[in-house]
Amino acid sequence: MSKSPVTVIGLGPMGAKMAETFLKNGRPTTVWNRTASKAAPLVEQGATLAATPADALGASELIVISQTDYPAMYDSLGGETDALKGRVLVNLSSGSPDELRRADAWAAERGAELLTGGIMVPPPGIGRPGSYVFYSGVETTLDRHREALLELGDATFVGTDPGLSMLYYQAQLYLFWSTLTSYMHAVALVGSAGVSAEQFRPFAATTVSSLAGDGPMGFLRIVTEHIDAGLTTDDPNALRMQAVGADHVIEASREAGIDTTGPTALRNLFWRAVDEGYGGGGLSSVIEAIRNPAP
Ligand code: NDP
Repeated sequence: MSKSPVTVIGLGPMGAKMAETFLKNGRPTTVWNRTASKAAPLVEQGATLAATPADALGASELIVISQTDYPAMYDSLGGETDALKGRVLVNLSSGSPDELRRADAWAAERGAELLTGGIMVPPPGIGRPGSYVFYSGVETTLDRHREALLELGDATFVGTDPGLSMLYYQAQLYLFWSTLTSYMHAVALVGSAGVSAEQFRPFAATTVSSLAGDGPMGFLRIVTEHIDAGLTTDDPNALRMQAVGADHVIEASREAGIDTTGPTALRNLFWRAVDEGYGGGGLSSVIEAIRNPAP
């Protein structure tokens, strides 16, 4: 049985790789991009280049969008009131959750359905083991197109609120960026005394892997349990003690002559939580300062 067709709108590094992946899987693929010349390598691989956004929408029920942001979707498809009717728009571009909620209403007003998605791999990872996408919207719509979308990576449905996929995506990105940036700060710190990144890496690896483990340093689980239990008092690892330690990281960074932006942000959060009465609780009490920004 032949596969259902798909249209890919947006041929940046991500969209082009998505179209290529669909083609490699033998799926009839139509593409459209503001700059049409970017479609040439895909046409060589068998893609159909749509001359207009209306043609692109007309070619498939499933429309996968990968552009810089959500305004790009309005720029590309905003004038296509008729052609949008009955389409399933799967937008895998980055945006804010509220932007996605507005886009959901925009699509519904035009008789289209929007599935929002956050794709968790860079272009080379698309369609490969370990690739996954957070989706939100109407789950039965995802189910209807699951077979095609699974060609990009695992489909993880997170809820009906169209903004949820981006909340998960951004939560994961923040975790990724801040962890690796902290690693770079640590490398710069020890590097000021001539230690190479490679010499330090095994110690960092132990810390990062033990955080997610079940042992006594399994703080991902420990902090999670404390947060869910609302535990903010009586911890032998008192936050006040850790805040003093955070000040020492800044001092050490100054002495090393390196930037102090990261540790200063951390230190400010710790001390605000202490000042607000959570000094006797554990590290998990910092969530109180995060949830309740300073006025
Ligand atoms: P870009 O974010 O640079 O997206 C480029 C695409 O957006 C091109 O097709 C470009 O068209 C189109 N575009 C931008 N503005 C407009 C507009 N106003 N009207 C029409 N088309 C427009 O590259 P990526 O492919 O890397 O990323 C796509 C999305 O995927 C982004 O939202 C990104 O955050 C997200 N993402 C990226 C990852 C990555 O590693 N690259 C990983 C996970 C998600 P044109 O060619 O004409 O300029």
